[in-house]
Amino acid sequence: MQQKIGAVLVVGAGVGGIRATLDLAESGFKVYLIDNRPSIGGALPRLNHWFPDNHCEMCKMLPIFSRDECSQFCLFRDLAHPNVELIPNAEIEKMEGDAGNFEVNLNIKSRYVKADRCTGCGLCVEVCPIEVQDKFNEGLQKRKAVYIKNPLAIPNVYSIDIDNCNKCGECVKICPTKAIDLDLTDESRQLAVGAIIVSTGGWDVPIAMLDTAVSITSTPASMALRQVMDAMPLV
Ligand code: SF4
Ligand code: SF4
Repeated sequence: MQQKIGAVLVVGAGVGGIRATLDLAESGFKVYLIDNRPSIGGALPRLNHWFPDNHCEMCKMLPIFSRDECSQFCLFRDLAHPNVELIPNAEIEKMEGDAGNFEVNLNIKSRYVKADRCTGCGLCVEVCPIEVQDKFNEGLQKRKAVYIKNPLAIPNVYSIDIDNCNKCGECVKICPTKAIDLDLTDESRQLAVGAIIVSTGGWDVPIAMLDTAVSITSTPASMALRQVMDAMPLV
């Protein structure tokens, strides 16, 4: 029988995936936390304060994420765990094996920005001429082709939406750290893990898709309403 591997892959870095990651990491397992988006948090960054303890999701998480008695429940601090490796922009291409011993091939989509060089200064956004609907803000405002999904994103690294980029190069010219490279390509990575947790969460149903909404298509869906009413709306 093959030796079991003491590492776990968690797919989906929303609240469920993060919870599982922190528990496993605290139990001594190496955890790879992947998400197909450029930063983690799932729906959390789209909320401001949540029921029942009114904690702010943008910079804090529920007390269950705390590793000590500190009054701050900072997501940054807790996920900076030596057993946790975050792999954003990643999707599973292939998976083989059995419980205790899996081989997983990941495709890590390029963000066209070198993560170790981006300081999050935002200068690239100012010069980018392309505007597209901002899905993070429910399409209630636009974002640029170079963007960051939300404030305080983890990691705090900008990405280029290459499908909408016209390759004008203005962002490349202005970037003070030479972080942007429009020729970067996707990367492959192989992981060996003993278990896989799939925590991909749910998704929004556009209100126009609901039969009952035919006569109320101007009614905002709950997340859009939340964005409008939020104490920290439209970033
Ligand atoms: S890519 Fe460059 S210009 Fe854009 S936020 Fe990062 S460091 Fe600043
Ligand atoms: S190269 Fe693309 S992302 Fe950069 S400024 Fe031009 S359109 Fe925007």
